[in-house]
Amino acid sequence: MPFELSEEEKAIQRTVREFARKELAPFVAQIEEEDEIPPIVSEKLKELRITGLPFEEKYGGVGSTFTSFIVAVEELGQVCPPIANLPMEGVMTSLALRRFGTEEQKKKYMIPLVKGEKKACWAFTEPATGSDPRAFETRAVLDGDEYVLNGTKRFASGVFTADFATIFAKTKGDKIGAFIAETGGEGFIRGKRVRLMGMRGLATGDLILENFRVPTENVLGKDDEGFKVLLEIEAESRIRSAALSVGMAQAALDEAVAYSKQRYQRGHPISDFLSIKWQLAEMAMKVEAARYLVYRCAYQRDQGKSIRKDSAIAKLFCSTTAREVTSISLQVHGCYGYTKEFKIERLYRDAKLNEVAGGNADIQRVIIANELLQ
Ligand SMILES: Cc1cc2nc3c(=O)[nH]c(=O)nc-3n(C[C@H](O)[C@H](O)[C@H](O)COP(=O)(O)OP(=O)(O)OC[C@H]3O[C@@H](n4cnc5c(N)ncnc54)[C@H](O)[C@@H]3O)c2cc1C
Repeated sequence: MPFELSEEEKAIQRTVREFARKELAPFVAQIEEEDEIPPIVSEKLKELRITGLPFEEKYGGVGSTFTSFIVAVEELGQVCPPIANLPMEGVMTSLALRRFGTEEQKKKYMIPLVKGEKKACWAFTEPATGSDPRAFETRAVLDGDEYVLNGTKRFASGVFTADFATIFAKTKGDKIGAFIAETGGEGFIRGKRVRLMGMRGLATGDLILENFRVPTENVLGKDDEGFKVLLEIEAESRIRSAALSVGMAQAALDEAVAYSKQRYQRGHPISDFLSIKWQLAEMAMKVEAARYLVYRCAYQRDQGKSIRKDSAIAKLFCSTTAREVTSISLQVHGCYGYTKEFKIERLYRDAKLNEVAGGNADIQRVIIANELLQ
């Protein structure tokens, strides 16, 4: 399959790389220390027009490709994974609106999200279910020209600052509907924030819905099409998650190369030892293969091809790679890698997220196998 980044995509890659290193890197230590992403970072991402990259100009977007967005996430991920994760909270809702929204919904919700003026969260997961969409309990009951939603959502990333939320709820029996809602009204209760192992600054937590009313015109697609919305947008989100993993893995490799050249043992830089060279080569091989899978999948998405299987392959391979490569890099750093003085300690914790969130690694295996066996 022939593909290469276009001149525009390469230019966006360069711009984001320079911007991230100059404008965002100075916030990394503060985010790690305070476990909060300061609002100025969102302002800077808005300046970069990151949330607009894959969307049409008529909806406030840049009019570039999905690949541009993916490349941008990878670049941000090399500098600060929690910052790289931030735009996706709104982009998932924008993608859902573009695919399933009415023109009215697009004007009201998608345009401000695409422009980075508003934020959104994606509320699917519940206390009793992560991987089994049919098992959740939140229900939407039709009452006149409104739906009344009751239930609890878990791990709703960005819920504490979101202006809009995409909420999934059962409508007819086991059928699921997807709703675009304005946050903060009566019955929209922000719950407890969950403390995480890594990705400090990523604010995720519970959303409790108590007789929360959503107008019928806010259904995305039909009120029994939520599962379709979920499957399609989660597939796109998997490529984004995979790109973030590649960014983290590349950063871990860069750290290992730099450290191995400046750490001396027995009168030599440790990079002279064959065992270290092997580890560097092993990391480079994995990172390149992972990047290839991500770019290929993003390209397929831009060509309008099905990405269900390939996005699962990319997410599975890249999240595994990020976990393995950060671990090897930490090993190259020796005991200094285990200290807070070195970036690899943070990357090692951050990288694990993508193996468990956004669809567990085992669930990616299930998706891949099911597609093969169809
Ligand atoms: C930091 C963070 C942010 C998140 N952000 C969001 C968000 O914004 N919105 C949102 O909706 N969710 C979010 N999530 C939730 C997350 O995407 C899901 O919870 C996760 O993908 C799966 O959930 P689980 O581990 O609870 O799954 P479970 O289904 O409880 O899985 C537990 C274990 O069982 C295995 N398992 C389950 N079913 C099968 C099966 N059929 N076959 C084989 N193995 C199986 C899994 O692989 C896993 O090892 C977030 C999670 C985290 C940690």
